[in-house]
Amino acid sequence: MSCDRISKVLVGDTPGRSTELNYFRIGPADATQKVYLQAALHADEQPGILILHHLLQLLRDADAAGELNAQFVLFPMVNPLGMGDIEFGQHQGRYNRSSGVNHNRDWPVLYDAVSPGLVAKLGADAAENILLIRDALREWAANLPRVTAFEQWRRCVISEACDADYVFDVHCADDSLVHIFTIPQQAENMQQLANWTGAAATLLAEDTGGGSFDEVWPTVWLRLAGECPDKPLPLPVVTCTLEYRGNFDTFDNLNRQDAQNLYGYFQEQGLIEGEPRGQKGAAPAPTDLRATEYLRAPQAGLLAYYVELGDRVEKGDRVADLIQLDGEEAFVARIPLLAGTSGQVISRQINKYVWANANISKIVGTEILESRDGNLLSD
Ligand SMILES: [Zn+2]
Repeated sequence: MSCDRISKVLVGDTPGRSTELNYFRIGPADATQKVYLQAALHADEQPGILILHHLLQLLRDADAAGELNAQFVLFPMVNPLGMGDIEFGQHQGRYNRSSGVNHNRDWPVLYDAVSPGLVAKLGADAAENILLIRDALREWAANLPRVTAFEQWRRCVISEACDADYVFDVHCADDSLVHIFTIPQQAENMQQLANWTGAAATLLAEDTGGGSFDEVWPTVWLRLAGECPDKPLPLPVVTCTLEYRGNFDTFDNLNRQDAQNLYGYFQEQGLIEGEPRGQKGAAPAPTDLRATEYLRAPQAGLLAYYVELGDRVEKGDRVADLIQLDGEEAFVARIPLLAGTSGQVISRQINKYVWANANISKIVGTEILESRDGNLLSD
């Protein structure tokens, strides 16, 4: 039994700008399974901080009772650099202020850690192959650059996540229902997570084109398995981005229940013993992310929605009107924004003033959309 709070200083790029990164390691040090959870990678998405606050207490209690079969690593607020991104009284936190990089994009491809020499060492034992590759990942992570605060931060996070059996990245999305992004190979397990979290949709893509945090962990295993078909290389990591409703859904009772439900999922996975917790439902089956329309605004305007979250729309239905804000038709014309597919509305914009190409809704359909290729994410 152990519960350690780990605190690291990210040395600032400029005088007086060092930052504290805190996280927790809970559970038996000799556990054979490791679960990694983080929240607020997009620092402006905070329901996950409260969810992991509650989960932390549940895990500490379980650890004290000797009920943990896995080691849990929790970063309740994984991006303190982004938490400091306040400008003119408004918190930002989605992009790195220096580089402009979206905090959930361009995570490094772990395949760089795999050398030809390592591939030659792979044998006929799947468990030993996993150990060999994880050793290489840890060594590669330890040698990542650490000059800037951004590099120190990513190196710390990668080092903790690279050898985990579960990597869950908790976000939220504008005004939305719970939904999950994951890869098709994990559809079965993610159906269970969806049942526990009450997800309205589980969206599958092997490569969104964005290099998002959850995608890089399975990629190395899938690529290796493709290149070494004669070696046993099972996928040893379960990963997802969990969009836990909308940006304003940070409420104590709601997020306590969310934590209980996550706890119930981990109990079902055999990672926690003891009295069952949480409430399991029946979520819809996973669908291809390319069948989800990201409806966009053709120009600037003020949104007047016709739909509520969870509504079913048919192709051609009016999702919203855009009130025109300039030109001869300003404040008179309404531009209808029509659903490009039939499906369920799972997200809307919080801010109703939008500009050209802003995403105004996700509609989860079942037919693959021709428009959905290249980068499948919203930005
Ligand atoms: Zn996010």
